[in-house]
Amino acid sequence: MRILVTGGAGFIGSHLIDRLMAQGHEVVCLDNFYTGTKRNILKWMDNPYFELIRHDITEPIRLEVDQIYHLACPASPIHYQYNPVKTIKTNVIGTMNMLGLAKRVKARFFLASTSEVYGDPDVHPQTEDYRGNVNCIGIRSCYDEGKRVAETLSFDYHRQNGVDIRVVRIFNTYGPRMLENDGRVVSNFIVQALRNQPLTVYGDGSQTRSFCYVSDLVEGFIRLMNSNEIGPMNLGNPGEYTILELAQKIQNMINPGAEIIFKPLPQDDPKQRQPDITLAKNWLGWEPTVPLDKGLELTVKDFRDRIEGNQK
Ligand code: NAD
Ligand code: UDP
Repeated sequence: MRILVTGGAGFIGSHLIDRLMAQGHEVVCLDNFYTGTKRNILKWMDNPYFELIRHDITEPIRLEVDQIYHLACPASPIHYQYNPVKTIKTNVIGTMNMLGLAKRVKARFFLASTSEVYGDPDVHPQTEDYRGNVNCIGIRSCYDEGKRVAETLSFDYHRQNGVDIRVVRIFNTYGPRMLENDGRVVSNFIVQALRNQPLTVYGDGSQTRSFCYVSDLVEGFIRLMNSNEIGPMNLGNPGEYTILELAQKIQNMINPGAEIIFKPLPQDDPKQRQPDITLAKNWLGWEPTVPLDKGLELTVKDFRDRIEGNQK
């Protein structure tokens, strides 16, 4: 098949491309390199079945493809809050452009949505039928409301125009190739511990997150895309940790002498988050296989190679 991956030079997108190329598909990667990098897809650049297009999805584009994995959107709060209006344009105008493309060429369309559609949830763990507790005027709104509209657009194109959609709600995912300055918690703590800097816990560290290793997530993507279910479907690892527990785990793993310091909690930071993955288990036979300790080990190795490599 000919498969388009928007945001393909980013963290998750590049791992997805590795899998799709290995399966023998023709892959078109579309990215504006805001948070993505050519380094992530370098190994495919000379492959005749791979094509890279530098393009911003807020502008329309014409392509012939069979499937579209739509991932283009900055995912880390510091990056999506840097230019919030642009984040909304990417989620709304960009998603509309990609749905328009799917409609025109009759491609199956996969939306990478997020657990952020649940906001600061008062239902725990979160099931797909929970409608969320989202602030529509806060600093996270450009992203979480943006993704909620992206879901709405997907379902309206499906109902109105018969576009074949798949919608996945991704919970915190980590792994090799996250940017050193990504700003999300796993990469921050690893980079800080490797550089012998204090690990910055926001708030008192009692807020929780559930961390999924990237290869597990990509397996779920491909299963949902090629199933008959449309979603929305949660994909994530139900193992739930407080942020302080995560800091201590990474501290012990890399640098037991590293200090842990506390910084103010950002506005609207969700207090708890854990996926209910019953639907994914029942519909796709999917569940995560990589435990946090193992996933962190693989991620630390990647950061160590980059950071120590850079220092030489
Ligand atoms: P990332 O920032 O590494 O990747 C996003 C990619 O999209 C980057 O390559 C970036 O350059 C590209 N991009 C951004 N705006 C664009 C635009 N206007 N036009 C073209 N390309 C653009 O983030 P990621 O962690 O790989 O996330 C990928 C997707 O998964 C995002 O849609 C994100 O919202 C979603 N998601 C990720 C997580 C997670 O924990 N990693 C959780 C929930 C949802
Ligand atoms: N966090 C932290 N220190 C950091 C970065 C993040 O304590 O250096 C916290 C953040 O406040 C949040 C959690 O870790 O409670 C997860 O943050 P991240 O930005 O990774 O993802 P999200 O909040 O979008 O789930």
